[in-house]
Amino acid sequence: RWSLRDFDIGKPLGKGHFGKVYLARLKSPTNPFVLVLKCLPKDAVLKEGVTIQVRREIEIMQSLRHPNIIQLYGWFHDDTRIFLMLELAGQGEVYKHLRKAGKFSERRSSSYIRQVADGLAYLHAKDIIHRDIKPENLLLGSEGQIKIADFGWSVRMEADSQRTLAGTLSYVAPEMIMGQPYGKGIDIWALGVLTYEFITGEEPFGTDTSSGTRFTQARICRVDLRIPEYVSAEARDLIHKLLQLVPSERLPLAMIPDQPWIAQHHQ
Ligand code: ADP
Ligand code: MG
Ligand code: MG
Repeated sequence: RWSLRDFDIGKPLGKGHFGKVYLARLKSPTNPFVLVLKCLPKDAVLKEGVTIQVRREIEIMQSLRHPNIIQLYGWFHDDTRIFLMLELAGQGEVYKHLRKAGKFSERRSSSYIRQVADGLAYLHAKDIIHRDIKPENLLLGSEGQIKIADFGWSVRMEADSQRTLAGTLSYVAPEMIMGQPYGKGIDIWALGVLTYEFITGEEPFGTDTSSGTRFTQARICRVDLRIPEYVSAEARDLIHKLLQLVPSERLPLAMIPDQPWIAQHHQ
């Protein structure tokens, strides 16, 4: 139904693993709707054997409708590329804002964490795990609301049954590193990593570039967590509840809104 001829292409918004992402506008005088086109070259998709992943990204996104999740409006392809038509997140990556600010205030962090938790709870209720929660894949809408993006690693699953190593090292959960079957708990772990990074501006277990992959992996598996002095007791408490080694001991997402650190900054 759709084709590239239906759109005016604007500036590039970002670049992912093989996706190029552009601002676009519908060529319609009555409805010049602004959106985002994520373009995936077919040869790269085939070469890396990720056809199933791209199909999943589309299928899963089509089934989602939530204020904190980027909406997929539709998709189409031509001879060489697959295009995803996405809701525009007007203020771009949380990553970019975090690097600019250094760190976020606890008030701002708690508002973001509550919104990410809301989106994740919606996904988990549909048996979808995202598997790649990190500041690059969290976007901000024009009003500054959180929008979870990039479902390229997401899967639909019921029990803990996945074993594939996915995502980005500094956000990966211990059970994934240890090759154990994992499930929704890995997104809750990533939420804990995110909480730490928002408040401190740094990743809790280091990055693979700063200190070496093995070292970071070892710190994750020991939950070798050192929270700076200036972090409030309430934030510290939530980080500890999320970053539990045993997945079943991590705080259920439904309990996030009632946590003191979330509740005190909200309403
Ligand atoms: P990849 O799967 O290749 O990582 P993403 O879906 O994460 O691709 O998109 C890459 C980048 O493009 C994002 O990190 C972001 O900067 C930008 N981007 C993607 N989708 C949107 C959107 N809906 N609104 C605004 N920017 C976006
Ligand atoms: Mg991405
Ligand atoms: Mg992706």
